[in-house]
Amino acid sequence: MHVRGRGLPDEAELQLWIVDGRISTEPVAGADTVFDGGWVLPGLVDAHCHVGLGDDGEIPLEEAIGQAEAERDAGALLLRDCGAPTDTRSLDDRDDLPRIIRAGKHLARPKRYARGFAVELEDESQLPEAVAREAKRGDGWIKLVGDWIDRGVGDLAPLWSDDVLKAAIATAHEHGARVTAHVFSEDALPGLINAGIDCIEHGTGLTDDTIALMVEHQTALVPTLINTLENFPGIAESAARYPAYAAHMRDLHARCLARTAAAREAGVPVYAGSDAGSMIAHGRIADEVEALKRIGMSPTEALGAACWDARRWLGRPGLEYGASADLLCYAEDPRQGPGVLNRPDLVILRGKAFRPHG
Ligand SMILES: [Zn+2]
Repeated sequence: MHVRGRGLPDEAELQLWIVDGRISTEPVAGADTVFDGGWVLPGLVDAHCHVGLGDDGEIPLEEAIGQAEAERDAGALLLRDCGAPTDTRSLDDRDDLPRIIRAGKHLARPKRYARGFAVELEDESQLPEAVAREAKRGDGWIKLVGDWIDRGVGDLAPLWSDDVLKAAIATAHEHGARVTAHVFSEDALPGLINAGIDCIEHGTGLTDDTIALMVEHQTALVPTLINTLENFPGIAESAARYPAYAAHMRDLHARCLARTAAAREAGVPVYAGSDAGSMIAHGRIADEVEALKRIGMSPTEALGAACWDARRWLGRPGLEYGASADLLCYAEDPRQGPGVLNRPDLVILRGKAFRPHG
């Protein structure tokens, strides 16, 4: 196969040949031109989603396959799975599904995360050992729940003490795994960042001080803006029994775009993740790219946060010679918005062509 179009971010003319599922930049005689004119991109990245997570936690594998197919059809060919109770490793044998970088199961404490989602540790001192176990099950990432409502306190509160976090994150790094954490509030951030965490998910409670700490440590941020913007008011609404918590969630919602914009402005690397898997449907990475424009990203920068920049951060190739042929073709400029970005005209995954939208 042969495709010709313009690449991004440089808008330069590019031609690629696909041989045995891999990209070649050298012409191949007699190749069938399957796309000509328009735009050619590496597969999109959803850097925070959950294939294998449903409303109540674990789901049948068939349902997880449907989630992965929805991501593929929207162009997301590389997924960082930020924690799932369902064992989806058998999906790696399917060459028609996106590549998944797993973080194993969420690590939390009893009653301190959504029921059925996480491994719940009775004692926080068990965290380093649990991290070592999940590092073996995952694909180079560990997911911690950094904070959640503490019903005794009536507000968001950290799950772990600073010393336990230091030991756990050091253990992950010894096992070659990077660590990320679910964090909504202000209070859980300093302990995680100072312990050397690699990424923060959501990060709605970032302050100027914790933004400066993230810049110092070059901690990445995946803000999952569509989830915060669409769901925090409803979470607050349903938590009327905990008025301080509800007010906190409303305040975090109100400030989320401004805080994320401040983090980007200060130099925190920001990547796109939809948080699909429970409250958000799969296949919505284009909506997150659109939301990133609201924190001051240009259309090219916002797309890069879900494409070439995210691939580099995750250590996966783009459109390079010898890379797996995981790419997208668009007749129209995909930076225009979700109407275009969500509907690639041609998806090529491991060298196999799909036309998901007709
Ligand atoms: Zn999530």
